Amino acid sequence: MTTPTTLLILGASGDLTSRLLLPAIAQLLKRQPDRALVLHGAGSDDWSDERWQEAVRTAFATVDATDQISRIAGTSYVKADVTDRDALAALIEGVEGSLVIYFALPPAVAEMACEKLVDIPLPEGTVLALEKPFGSDEKSAAALNALVTRIVPENQVFRVDHFLGRSTILNIMGVRFANRLVEPVWSADHVQSVLVRYDESLALENRARYYDKAGALVDMIQSHLLQVLAILAMEQPADLDEIDLRDAMAAALRATRILGDDPVASTRRARYTSGTSDDRPVPSYSDEEGVDPARGTETLAEITCEVDTARWAGVPFTLRSGKALGERCAEIVVTFRPVRHIPGGLTGMPTDGGVLRFSLGPDRIELELNVNGGDDPFALRRDVLSTGLGKGTLLAYTEVLSEILDGDVALSVRGDAAEQCWRIIQPALDAWRSGAVPMQEYPAGSTGPEKWATSQR
Ligand code: NDP
Repeated sequence: MTTPTTLLILGASGDLTSRLLLPAIAQLLKRQPDRALVLHGAGSDDWSDERWQEAVRTAFATVDATDQISRIAGTSYVKADVTDRDALAALIEGVEGSLVIYFALPPAVAEMACEKLVDIPLPEGTVLALEKPFGSDEKSAAALNALVTRIVPENQVFRVDHFLGRSTILNIMGVRFANRLVEPVWSADHVQSVLVRYDESLALENRARYYDKAGALVDMIQSHLLQVLAILAMEQPADLDEIDLRDAMAAALRATRILGDDPVASTRRARYTSGTSDDRPVPSYSDEEGVDPARGTETLAEITCEVDTARWAGVPFTLRSGKALGERCAEIVVTFRPVRHIPGGLTGMPTDGGVLRFSLGPDRIELELNVNGGDDPFALRRDVLSTGLGKGTLLAYTEVLSEILDGDVALSVRGDAAEQCWRIIQPALDAWRSGAVPMQEYPAGSTGPEKWATSQR
């Protein structure tokens, strides 16, 4: 058995804990028979230990791991206001061995709890796990970084981005760096455009309290999709560790900006109106419970960026994400430039030189190639080599928790990278707030506004 780590979840009666963290803890225990874990929850709801244990049992059952419950037999729940210094100190007092504090709290509350933590003694090596959104703009993210690093050093801060726990995203690195077929052509000399797309068919699903203040740009692009861009665009790190990998990703983000520094020409936003999605009637976003239509929150966002390096100059990177779309589509599409010349005799010069596509859920890699053959052996057509990547057995949060408990921050978002992600989207936020980019509409269940052919502005 390893030395026990105490995992203290603040906000333990909330949605993230019950839906994502507890099932991940269950899966982790199942996968790691030697893992010794002490689990405590705290939150403002007046839960008894029994109510908490019921929540734990329910979550463990969702991943078929009820047999693991005995391994966290001492788990308990404390009603506490974690913005109260003494209440917070009491939760930490007496913890033996290493400690992980997981902030499953609304962002403003997490920040207040951090302010109180500054002068509370913590066990050596304490790790802080913070959820998105990290700050609300570049300045507030910088202030939060300064605050957090007064509590523990940067290499004990885990800013969670569960996309970085998804094997398909990490797979990009293997495909990029380990294939002679791919590695030499991973640059503007050969790549025409890159699209990172995360379209959901789900609508708001009662998440107005959070989502109406965030919108698609902050909820998905500022965090997850820019991390994907960083992995696609970074230079090859010497090692995939917390220094080299995160240096490479941060450098790529530092070089990234909205194309032409022109948010009016290079960004689009839209909001769903009533329709049918996932076979269910969906009301207009403005009529969803808890939404304040005056806020003008977008449910579909698209920004096109450029990465200002020798490798990527001139290549548009488009990031797009939305809700209540007809088809769930999560993919990374790398389109190669057309070849310079094809021999006379071959007909149908293609508009591109092939496409490499990573699809998420189900996870697949596809290579679209221009081929000839069939009835007319000299006519070019398109064919797809496609392979499933197998259904990953681990939840993204299981990967994330495993890294947090091991104190391995390589796949957590470093403070400066979090600030860069806000810097990149800020011109879009400003232009959207000022009304310079019109809000378009699309019926729920459609492919988006009529004018938006996926890759044409
Ligand atoms: P919830 O509102 O469901 O949960 C937050 C919890 O914190 C609630 O139980 C709340 O109690 C509790 N809380 C609030 N104030 C205090 C306080 N002063 N002291 C103690 N407990 C308090 O939010 P989520 O679980 O959805 O989100 C938590 C974080 O995770 C957010 O940063 C969110 O952005 C992030 N996240 C969430 C995801 C999700 O799918 N839910 C996905 C990815 C990230 P009460 O209800 O009584 O106020």
